[in-house]
Amino acid sequence: MNAVFPQNTSLMRITERPDLVFSHGSGSWLTDEQGKRYLDFVQGWAANCLGHAPAAVLQALNEQSSRLVNPSPAFYNRPSIELAECLTKHSVFDQVFFANSGAEANEGAIKLARKWGRRHKAGAFEIITFENSFHGRTLATMSASGKPGWDKLFAPQVDGFPKAKLNDIDSVTALITSNTAAIMLELVQGEAGVIPATYEFIHSLRELANLSNVLLIVDEVQTGIGRTGKLFAYEHLGIVPDIMTLGKGIGGGIPLAALLAREEVCCFEVGDQGGTFNGNPLTTAVGVAVLNTILTPGFLGDVASKGDYLAARLKILSTNFGLPGERGVGLLRGLVLTNNCAGSIVLSALQRAPDGLLLNAPRPNLLRFMPALTVTHQEIDLMVEWLTSILDDSTALHQ
Ligand SMILES: *Cc1c(COP(=O)(O)O)cnc(C)c1O
Repeated sequence: MNAVFPQNTSLMRITERPDLVFSHGSGSWLTDEQGKRYLDFVQGWAANCLGHAPAAVLQALNEQSSRLVNPSPAFYNRPSIELAECLTKHSVFDQVFFANSGAEANEGAIKLARKWGRRHKAGAFEIITFENSFHGRTLATMSASGKPGWDKLFAPQVDGFPKAKLNDIDSVTALITSNTAAIMLELVQGEAGVIPATYEFIHSLRELANLSNVLLIVDEVQTGIGRTGKLFAYEHLGIVPDIMTLGKGIGGGIPLAALLAREEVCCFEVGDQGGTFNGNPLTTAVGVAVLNTILTPGFLGDVASKGDYLAARLKILSTNFGLPGERGVGLLRGLVLTNNCAGSIVLSALQRAPDGLLLNAPRPNLLRFMPALTVTHQEIDLMVEWLTSILDDSTALHQ
């Protein structure tokens, strides 16, 4: 039982980590090296869609790792074919490229849109993205992101990502030129504070894209794979995007991501795209296990009803504390606070005893909830009960 202090580790300090080390997890619960338990409503930033150590993922890892791990992406392997067929069968897309992270899938989407622009639109290369959006941490995806300050960090940026305002169609129309190849967005902005794109906006966007001969790319890295109560968030909106990216939930905690596109957009030629670990049978076998679980009859309906339940409980809590409200879709929800105390609430929740609670604060005045899709009603009740007493005790809330 060693306490690890930051000055003792050789890890690069890329984030402020609390002074604890997690040792194991199961479902909605994590345990640290001191034996303290934590109720986890972060789940590796929504990646662990089936919770910690889910049986389906463990079985897929065990079976596939003893059979075949890495024949190289230059050869077919059965799990990647199976996963690609499952994804195309259950979506409006025709072809899939597998990647290892959401950022890498988005890089692929950006490359595909630029290739399409070169081939079909006289070299159009600009991709309109949105203020406060988040698409990843590679240079191109940071440039595509609209996080304040990121335009200066690691300058110069990758060119060609003019920024519009979410849910403001005129701000998009104003940026369309003959150079525009695509519009790319999150259907629920996650890092920005769980802000859903409206039905009207998405339909206007689809219409604008059609009229301007521009591709529509949806980044469903956070919203995909059941998070919103449907397999993909675009299904709630009744639109057909041209390109979609997936990450996080598709691997159930294992690094896996995907780029999906409709056939008429698939214009990569041999040599344009690749990567050493892309679509390896170990990670794609896990993807198959995750999808099979999520597509079990009743699973998604259950996610939707637990999302409604979490929303209702947060609404009551919000009213009781005189807060501005809650928002989100399915099991991706945000609670708006009256002032910038989200960070201190996250810390109080972590330090709660005897059991801790893991919450996330993507904005200084907002808590984000992204539990396992397998979270129980009792665990939701427990989280709300604990959060209520933390807010009761919190002086920060009323300052
Ligand atoms: C997390 C996230 C990404 C980046 O995914 P990584 O796997 O961290 O590279 C991209 N887009 C959205 C919407 C995300 O939430």
